Amino acid sequence: MGDNGRAEAVSDGRTAPDGGGQAAELFRQTFDHWPTGLWAAPGRVNLIGEHTDYNRGLVLPIALPRRTWAAAAGRSDGLVRLVSDQGGAVVEVEAATIAPGRPADWARYPAGVVWALERVGWTVGGLDVAFASDLPIGAGLSSSAAIEGAMAAACSDLCGLGLLADDTGRQQLAQICQQAENDIALAPTGGMDQAASLRALPGHALGLDCADQSVEHVPFDLDPAQLVLLIIDTKVHHALGDGQYGARRADCERAVRELGLDSLRDLALADLDQTLPRLSSQRLRRRTRHVVTEIERVRQAKAALAAADFTGLGRLFNASHQSMRHDYEISCPELDQAQEQALAAGALGARMTGGGFGGSAIALIAAQRAQAAAEAVTAAFAARGWVAPGFITARAAGPAERVG
Ligand code: ADP
Ligand code: MG
Repeated sequence: MGDNGRAEAVSDGRTAPDGGGQAAELFRQTFDHWPTGLWAAPGRVNLIGEHTDYNRGLVLPIALPRRTWAAAAGRSDGLVRLVSDQGGAVVEVEAATIAPGRPADWARYPAGVVWALERVGWTVGGLDVAFASDLPIGAGLSSSAAIEGAMAAACSDLCGLGLLADDTGRQQLAQICQQAENDIALAPTGGMDQAASLRALPGHALGLDCADQSVEHVPFDLDPAQLVLLIIDTKVHHALGDGQYGARRADCERAVRELGLDSLRDLALADLDQTLPRLSSQRLRRRTRHVVTEIERVRQAKAALAAADFTGLGRLFNASHQSMRHDYEISCPELDQAQEQALAAGALGARMTGGGFGGSAIALIAAQRAQAAAEAVTAAFAARGWVAPGFITARAAGPAERVG
């Protein structure tokens, strides 16, 4: 926000035309030769279906035009060298020594991909990679899956694995990336982000069934209705949230044990009311109610999209937000403000998206009202002394691919 207190202009969310060039240039400056190829993988925003992936439920993300590029060249000595335009020195690690938490910091995400590929028997050897990104990092738009996806795409092509060629290979790569994030970056996330980055189609939302990883491509085009999906990046991340993701997963596992189920996916909405009293605490009842109703909302959202019923979709967004705010308790004052101000500015619906405790919210709103909504959210944040939020409109873009 400038001194005049106005909102940041809403970005049209298109990707940087020269992002691949920046990665290639960083590669040349760092490693003193040119890369042999360029790959890119998108971030994602989840339309609906939050904290359902690790409950074997349904999710509905879109891949974003914003992405992370990898300029890369293979090596034959087992060394992995990584550099990013997000700053920091070159990280060098022997592929054979990559382990949980090693290398340190950001490089564990891409290095983890090498580890996960080799663990299932592929030979990667070594490689040099330079990353550039036009995704906001840590904003809940899955820059982590984007850097993993770009790395995985580069490894697959450079090592002749051919895993980008069809959805079966891409599903394998998504699993590899999830293992990298879980086991090496030590972030216990479900598989939605990686699936969106590797398996989505342009112009479509990805209906992913996390029970069996099957996908359904649901047309997602707001232009005919003159609507946009406005992403509101609150620019906050509450440290209190760090342990909360694991705590929510633990609550779900406990509920599953108490009910004698395999997963919360197995609890039908029709049986919810009679089942909840069997749980040992109000907290577990609320957590369970969120997961079961949220899975149903994903089903209804897919039907609403198929019927171009955007009023209905907006209502589902709002119900999802209330469920996350009150039952799953993963919202925060900034996300609630973003949601409420977007509604007051005329949005058909709005909700927090991603893991919670900060990150981004989304609003389904008339294109001509998006800037006014941005102004309203910004003013509300300024009045509370909060950092000015950022705004991007999102369209459904394509998955990880070779771009040069
Ligand atoms: P999100 O995925 O929502 O952006 P995460 O906390 O899951 O947030 O992942 C962000 C982390 O991923 C960063 O802190 C950094 O370690 C790593 N990361 C992602 N993209 C890049 C990049 N282009 N360069 C360096 N590190 C990155
Ligand atoms: Mg992430």
